[in-house]
Amino acid sequence: MLKEKITLLDVYKARKNIAPIIWKTPLVESPELGARSNATVLLKLESQQRTGSFKLRGATNKMLGLSAEELSRGVVAVSSGNHGRAVALGAKRLGIRAVICLSERVPKIKVEAIKRLGGEVVVHGDCYDAAEQRALKIEQEQGLTPVPSFDDPLVIAGQGTVGLEILEDWPEIDTAIVPLAGGSIFNGVALALKSADPSIRMVGVTMDRAPVMYQSLKAGKPIEMEETPTLADALAGGIGGEHNRYTFELTKHFIDEYVLVSEEEIAAAMVFALKEHKIAIEGAGAVGIAAVLHEKVQDLGKNVAVVVTGSNVDMRLLIDIAQGRLPYP
Ligand SMILES: *Cc1c(COP(=O)(O)O)cnc(C)c1O
Repeated sequence: MLKEKITLLDVYKARKNIAPIIWKTPLVESPELGARSNATVLLKLESQQRTGSFKLRGATNKMLGLSAEELSRGVVAVSSGNHGRAVALGAKRLGIRAVICLSERVPKIKVEAIKRLGGEVVVHGDCYDAAEQRALKIEQEQGLTPVPSFDDPLVIAGQGTVGLEILEDWPEIDTAIVPLAGGSIFNGVALALKSADPSIRMVGVTMDRAPVMYQSLKAGKPIEMEETPTLADALAGGIGGEHNRYTFELTKHFIDEYVLVSEEEIAAAMVFALKEHKIAIEGAGAVGIAAVLHEKVQDLGKNVAVVVTGSNVDMRLLIDIAQGRLPYP
């Protein structure tokens, strides 16, 4: 059972709160994906969001919900990169301190972006969970206020505003395909869409390397797994193990189908986006396209929205991939 309920009302409140800061992103047709899957396929381009990912929505909503006293002490966040950038931007606008804990695996482009915004970067350990331990220590030692990246009602409601935008532009949607790691974007979008129409199918997509939520659902409880390098670096990391409070139960409740994609399939989807849509997207942002491109969704429906979650990819890596070289064979 969910300990506290997050409702559609929370998503509408989030939309009002974050409206001055976030951009409404385009929903564009992908005729090529449509032709392959005999459906109408639209891409929700959160890759065009300010900071290059949807993370700004949840992080902003969370920070706006903190008290003046909490904010004045400064904030701390653990991140695979994109959440840290979002928190750093929020902190800069509020004129407060932000400490961002990252693992050694976080791509340089993401680390640099956080530093440019004035975020204090702490690099620790070779996985998300190690960086998280460090963040916890800093929080306790320095009295900073944590801004969680996924397992938090205000964060989930903030990400849910993506679902509201899709509904506004395309009420006929019958299937949503959404990247799934910690589960904030998947469940936020699910909350918005299924509140409007419970028959809308929610398909979650993760890389087949260390799919923590997938294995947790199989095990019937949140589990921990060792992190493996992947093109979808923003999907790496655990779901908090036994401390998970919201997203495990929410995912169990909302998910209709779970798809895993390989590194090759992610790479092909990144190249597809570049060639067909002339957009640069990161691996995590490409997993939904990968699922459709490689016909991995069992029950696709007729009106399919694919959430493209982020664009923060190193240009050299993208060029390598476009030339057929994969970094992790
Ligand atoms: C964080 C992130 C995800 C996964 O979001 P969760 O809420 O952790 O499931 C997907 N894509 C990108 C680009 C991200 O930054």
